[in-house]
Amino acid sequence: MGRLAGKIALITGAGRGIGAAIAHAFAREGAAVVLAELDAETAGQTAAAIERETPGARTLAVRTDVTDATSVREAVAASERTFGPLDVLVNNAGINVFCDPLTMTDEDWRRCFAVDLDGVWNGCRAVLPGMVERGRGSIVNIASTHSFKIIPGCFPYPVAKHGVIGLTRALGIEYAARQVRVNAIAPGYIETQLTRDWWDAQPDAEAARRATLDLQPMKRIGQPEEVAMTAVFLASDEAPFINASCITVDGGRSALYHD
Ligand code: NDP
Repeated sequence: MGRLAGKIALITGAGRGIGAAIAHAFAREGAAVVLAELDAETAGQTAAAIERETPGARTLAVRTDVTDATSVREAVAASERTFGPLDVLVNNAGINVFCDPLTMTDEDWRRCFAVDLDGVWNGCRAVLPGMVERGRGSIVNIASTHSFKIIPGCFPYPVAKHGVIGLTRALGIEYAARQVRVNAIAPGYIETQLTRDWWDAQPDAEAARRATLDLQPMKRIGQPEEVAMTAVFLASDEAPFINASCITVDGGRSALYHD
């Protein structure tokens, strides 16, 4: 029996990166997984890869834009029609919007908040009524070490990611008595396309990559699967008294005083 056997989970932004790793790990642990992803093609490809990796896995790929509350509600409805009531939601979809505050455009601000904070709220709002009524559920929000620490020039991403922690704590408390747990994971540097795109945007991509590794206490950055293992734990029945909390997955980087 897998650690998520019998559970039904929806993961946003599951077409690639951390979301895809979470979808693979959840399926390996016996959950039916719904890949709610902006890009229908990558969602379908990841679902097919999961079914190859885990024979008998139950997957559903649904094109979803987390910035659009109706689109998220429709994804939840499609999941429930296919598999039944959702036990787990992972709000993973996110984008980097890294600007200088005073030259940032209004569009940059809105784009960042639409995905990184409204997107998380849209997911929570779509699943909470059912979870509260059933008296069970686990929501896992993918925050960031930017939820606690600031890197100059990365505005307004950390503002939205601080908000994800606020939302996690507020909703965790709001529905605790109904046994709905809301937690967050704060990854540090994880090797995904998002990170590679950031290196590639620097004047010397290889030097930027080396500089990132040098800053890490473990002299490496994390892998998506290392975040996925934590998501499995929080989503499972192994974490029944963990609520309104955040687990940092950064190899110790945010505990370091000096660069
Ligand atoms: P990726 O860019 O590799 O993957 C993000 C996925 O989300 C993509 O498949 C993307 O689809 C999808 N997505 C983007 N916008 C939307 C939307 N509006 N609706 C639905 N899906 C959408 O990112 P990561 O895997 O690296 O990041 C995942 C999460 O982890 C994010 O919340 C990020 O902020 C957080 N994080 C990542 C860290 C890292 O070092 N990688 C560190 C800390 C936090 P498409 O490709 O079509 O745009």
